[in-house]
Amino acid sequence: MRRVGALVLASGTTDYDVVIAGGGPGGAACAVALVRAGVAPGRVLIVDKARFPREKPCGGGLTGHCADAMAALGLEVSVPAIASASARVRFGSWSRTVTMQRPVVIIRREEFDASLLAQAAALGVEVVQGEGMKGYEVDAAAGRVSVRTGERTVTARVLVGADGVASMVRKRLIPREGPPIRLFKLELPARGYAHGDAMLYDFSPMAYGLRGYLWVFPVADDRINVGLMHYPSRPLSGAELTALLARGLGDLGIHLDASETARGWPAWGYQPGAAVAAPHVLLLGDAAGIDALTGEGIGVAMEHGLVAAREVVAGLGGAGFSFVGYRRALRRAVVGRELALDRWLARLLYRPEAYRHFLGLMMFDPKVLELYAARVSGGLVLADHKRALMAALARHVFRGPGRNRKVRALAAEVAASTAAAGAGAAAGGRMYDEA
Ligand SMILES: Cc1cc2nc3c(=O)[nH]c(=O)nc-3n(C[C@H](O)[C@H](O)[C@H](O)COP(=O)(O)OP(=O)(O)OC[C@H]3O[C@@H](n4cnc5c(N)ncnc54)[C@H](O)[C@@H]3O)c2cc1C
Repeated sequence: MRRVGALVLASGTTDYDVVIAGGGPGGAACAVALVRAGVAPGRVLIVDKARFPREKPCGGGLTGHCADAMAALGLEVSVPAIASASARVRFGSWSRTVTMQRPVVIIRREEFDASLLAQAAALGVEVVQGEGMKGYEVDAAAGRVSVRTGERTVTARVLVGADGVASMVRKRLIPREGPPIRLFKLELPARGYAHGDAMLYDFSPMAYGLRGYLWVFPVADDRINVGLMHYPSRPLSGAELTALLARGLGDLGIHLDASETARGWPAWGYQPGAAVAAPHVLLLGDAAGIDALTGEGIGVAMEHGLVAAREVVAGLGGAGFSFVGYRRALRRAVVGRELALDRWLARLLYRPEAYRHFLGLMMFDPKVLELYAARVSGGLVLADHKRALMAALARHVFRGPGRNRKVRALAAEVAASTAAAGAGAAAGGRMYDEA
């Protein structure tokens, strides 16, 4: 990797076609896409404030759309990984296992992100680590953006804001809109938790306040990645969310030691109408917004990277750098269509009391979980199956009352059993598969 610590970059230049702020999956993918599309690698600079491998709280699940984006980019998973071929969806004593058409690959982000950045650098992309962007100015007349780090100022025709959830670029483009989604994560020894290679998505904590789900994913070396996602329709503090995580894990028989504390992180859900570009400037990945239903963002960032690179290449080819079409290009791409649909589903399911009416649709309808699993596998674009989803919604109007009674009964059971047993509750033998 071309690590450059001196004031002058290895290439000797301070002017680039593209400066990418942030070397996570989105920034690395965008750089690789630019090079694959013919931009000279030495004309692309990635600056990241961290040194890789850097810490990144994450579930580490690479979905089918992510695999497709990586294949399109010619990127490889070159780190230890678990291929998870099934997912168990749970709500209290009810659970259903769905087989994935294509396994979800689970990695550790620290290793994975470093390997992606190394793959970008191996193509000749210039990478500066440990030196963040401190500010930028657009000079439209000169057709350049100047980007200041602590150590240097470089110029470019385009600045890509791939600088994550706390993006400096996002702050200049998108007004803040209420509280973010929150995610908490912790990696543990499996301690006998019999997961096989299945991922668990557990909605049971919705019965006692969560608006999201808890996950248990297998990771390499007989360990598990556990965490939760919370949609901000109900204000919960970090302490409340970590207590919910401990309570939910306790219900599964996973007990945390006092030293085992989950790390939290915010995320912005994708808003189709948000300004994701300005002249000479583009946003992608977490900086542009992720999946509000699932919290998925690795594949999203890479898919954004591909779309952003197409816009930049068009600009370099003479279309100019106003980027007025970028928001629409993101919205019309598979990633934009999937995220817009999931934004709608998240609003349906995660409104404060809505799960009592709609969890039954997601869980008990024979078609809906199957479709969603196929979407996670990358076997289909769910946004192309809105008619099937609408048919399921219509079925739900008729079957809803029965399903909703079942959800309420399960919720009462969950709330009573986990409250009685506290965070130390064990799952017992009450779980069964409907599938
Ligand atoms: C707990 C948790 C669990 C998750 N689980 C999953 C999952 O299982 N599957 C999934 O697909 N997604 C998951 N996500 C979402 C996923 O982690 C993100 O969407 C993904 O990291 C987005 O990639 P990115 O490149 O946009 O941003 P990041 O990976 O955050 O990279 C941004 C980079 O920008 C750098 N940076 C920041 N500021 C500056 C600056 N001023 N100058 C230069 N560099 C800067 C940072 O150091 C960082 O390296 C999860 C998120 C969380 C919090």
